[in-house]
Amino acid sequence: MSRIKANRMDLTFERYQAEFEQKALDVLRSGWYILGHELESFEDKWASYIGSKYCIGLASGLDALWISFKILGIGSGDEVIVCSNAYIACVMGITMNGGTPVFVEPDRYDNIDADKIEEKITGKTKAILAVHLYGQCCDMDKILKIARIHKLRVVEDCAQSHGNHWKNKKAGTYGDIGCFSFYPSKGCGAFGDGGAVVTDNAELADKFRIFRNYGSEKRYHNMIVGANSRLDEIQAGLLSVKLSHLDKLNAERVRIAGRYSKEIDNPCVKLPEVRPGADSSWHQYVIHCERRDELKDYLAKHDIDTLIHYPIPPHLQEAYRYLGYKKGDFPIAEKYADEVLSLPMYNGMTDEDQQTVIEAINRF
Ligand SMILES: *Cc1c(COP(=O)(O)O)cnc(C)c1O
Repeated sequence: MSRIKANRMDLTFERYQAEFEQKALDVLRSGWYILGHELESFEDKWASYIGSKYCIGLASGLDALWISFKILGIGSGDEVIVCSNAYIACVMGITMNGGTPVFVEPDRYDNIDADKIEEKITGKTKAILAVHLYGQCCDMDKILKIARIHKLRVVEDCAQSHGNHWKNKKAGTYGDIGCFSFYPSKGCGAFGDGGAVVTDNAELADKFRIFRNYGSEKRYHNMIVGANSRLDEIQAGLLSVKLSHLDKLNAERVRIAGRYSKEIDNPCVKLPEVRPGADSSWHQYVIHCERRDELKDYLAKHDIDTLIHYPIPPHLQEAYRYLGYKKGDFPIAEKYADEVLSLPMYNGMTDEDQQTVIEAINRF
């Protein structure tokens, strides 16, 4: 029996191999590789898929985050609210501009506990970064209400939320800016690095377009000090192919997740819950287990790989020692770091392999 991997990106490539290869060849043969019609075409499609007016392709999800805060003018001396169990990129997106992350503990849905946001707001708070972890939206009703009352910007980190909804609209359409990563393992994953922002604000969209290209709109006329952060033509083309299948791919993940939820039956495992008002694209299927390390080892011994998203919360990372936090400061995030386990979840997972995973967990 072969090992069951936590993720299998090769299977989605194989499924649409002819289309991907044709698109790659088309771009290679076009002789145009940066800022061309493949990018424009993908930006239009992504904006319309998400339900936003504008999409601007960037080089990565981290770039989408830090350039967003830069463009919103949020930096040194400013505070940004973010969940304490965030991925490190969320926090770096804030601190790269000199901003200070203010952590709020997650709730039972593994996303920021919106009821704990207001107590963290100070005169310096400028924005809330709503990180939609694992494929599921935060409670955007509560977050938008708080933002309105306190006049805060809302940036959504949708790196793990490609196509899932809060109420009737997709992740990314609720805040001032929605940030996406097209890192290969993400829902609409590229074959290399990539990212994008979406917004309904024309002025912000222009600023992103200028910033990503050395601060220039017209060649060799640099209006501001910008960056080089562009989504390549070849990635944009491959992403257009992926996007044309994304709803099917997401539906398949929903089916796989549904089976896990129905058939995993072990008192020491807490299954993921979906918040009323949200649906999930199941970027990850994350269970909680107090004996997580034991369970992970047990599954590994039975040829089943799993992942941990994430083993060390940002406030305990060496990079953020300067923030002055210590163990015990965010007990829920710390507990989650010790008990979360991401089960094998990927397009193309066979029923037999899933059966093997389920039976192994139930026997544990
Ligand atoms: C992947 C990810 C990012 C960063 O994206 P990159 O493209 O790897 O820079 C940011 N936030 C979250 C929640 C992510 O999962």
